[in-house]
Amino acid sequence: MKLADEKWNITSLCLGQMTLPRTAFSGELDPDLKIDIPILGFLLRNGRETVLVDTGMRAEYFEQMAIGDVKPRGSTEILLHALEQEGLKPEDIDTVIYTHLHYDHSGNADLFPDAVTYVQKTEYDNMLNPYPFQQARMDYFPDTPGRLARIKRLILVDGDLKLSNGLELYLTPGHSRGGQTIVVPTPKGRFVLTGDNPATRYCIFADMNRMTLMDGTVLEITPDHTVPHLTGRFTTDHFSFYDSVRKQLALAEKPEPQYFLPSHDTEVAYLHHFG
Ligand SMILES: [Zn+2]
Repeated sequence: MKLADEKWNITSLCLGQMTLPRTAFSGELDPDLKIDIPILGFLLRNGRETVLVDTGMRAEYFEQMAIGDVKPRGSTEILLHALEQEGLKPEDIDTVIYTHLHYDHSGNADLFPDAVTYVQKTEYDNMLNPYPFQQARMDYFPDTPGRLARIKRLILVDGDLKLSNGLELYLTPGHSRGGQTIVVPTPKGRFVLTGDNPATRYCIFADMNRMTLMDGTVLEITPDHTVPHLTGRFTTDHFSFYDSVRKQLALAEKPEPQYFLPSHDTEVAYLHHFG
């Protein structure tokens, strides 16, 4: 088998939840619509290697949150239960890949000390020295460096990198400085895990007029036909956001919503299996 032919399957794991107005990701569209959105991790499996993308959050982070109406709920127990549902224990995870190191994506890093772990170098450096607005928003929690320090093989990726197992890592800043996109080749094509840049499918495809919620309910939403992509209040660098989305559109099997798996997308939580 050629390395490029490596085929994976993808499972979304719901590692927590928060309630947000749609406007958090959509500018002014649907100002009265509040949605329960998931905090997602992903399992990537090819029969020989088990990869976990992001490790969720910790219950005690919620007590310290200082970001207005965002109410994240998640815990180590939820992560362990999600893994157990897939027949896995933390020691079964061979590899961990981080989309970025925000509190709701890296909270349980120390559960996987023996897994080969990939994070963008820019993200790691920013986490060590957050800017004042990031500190005010608690993007990174003070205990994250200590948790990451327990990982024996932490690989700091500098830009774009193709792994020998067929997975591809790309630097995609905008939401965070070192956001990392993961491209996963599957029997059904190339899927793109975007992390929080962007966090939902309708941010990439602004003209979407329906969204599927976590329980499968289909909701009509207001499309925007005037712009291709929607940013929101969690974008910190709008220039980079657009550049990253264009890069992601070129990396997918086709530039269509079904190939994009953002970390806070309700439909991605509902569908669960990909590839
Ligand atoms: Zn984030």
